[in-house]
Amino acid sequence: MFDSRFEWPAWMQRLRLPSICHICEAWPSTALCDSCVQQFGQPIVRCPTCALPLLGSRCFPCHYEAPPLDKCLAAVTYGHPWSDCIAKFKFHGDVGFGRQLAALMRNAPWVEPALEMADSVIAMPLSASRLRERGFNQAYELAKHLAPQKADGRSLLRLEHASHQVGATRAERQEQARNTFWVDPVRIPTLQGKRIVLLDDVMTSGATLFEAARTLRKAGAAHITGLVLARAQLSQS
Ligand SMILES: [Zn+2]
Ligand SMILES: [Zn+2]
Repeated sequence: MFDSRFEWPAWMQRLRLPSICHICEAWPSTALCDSCVQQFGQPIVRCPTCALPLLGSRCFPCHYEAPPLDKCLAAVTYGHPWSDCIAKFKFHGDVGFGRQLAALMRNAPWVEPALEMADSVIAMPLSASRLRERGFNQAYELAKHLAPQKADGRSLLRLEHASHQVGATRAERQEQARNTFWVDPVRIPTLQGKRIVLLDDVMTSGATLFEAARTLRKAGAAHITGLVLARAQLSQS
């Protein structure tokens, strides 16, 4: 059995040699094999404004409080096997894997037209210190794969992360998200009246994505589509 803790050196990953499927460990394979994408990456019906799985005709959280997004799109549900895939991409610096995760996003319903109509694809920013620590912004990597000409990692900025959100309640996340984002004043004219795709890797409660969208809206963005790789199934209470 192949030891899944083994990591190919970064220079080997960049060569795009046949590798191992990060999910089923098939070899040789692309980093995500076709049969795993078929098995785990099938689209489901989602709420058009928060991307939660839609069970009935209406989404209760959005009916209760409309999100500050015009649309919200998600490729997969956060959980097995995608949580491990995203961790590999995000924390182990497996940037080559990003290309395939971006392809998974592009193939989700309505993503291609949203990207085509967008004036810019803004990546959810990391704070300066988090960016230094991690070495890259995973959301910006995905944005560059999805829309190289429109990817924007400079307009939306983030103050220092207050604390890790793991284990935080919904109320705590909302409080942490408040006043977290700002728009570079020089870039405001590039946002006014524009259609924006706001991209992140994971959406849990939505508090962070919604707060970033409010900041862009205040700066004059006319239409905002949230686009995430993985959406948590239930918002935390
Ligand atoms: Zn596989
Ligand atoms: Zn909803």
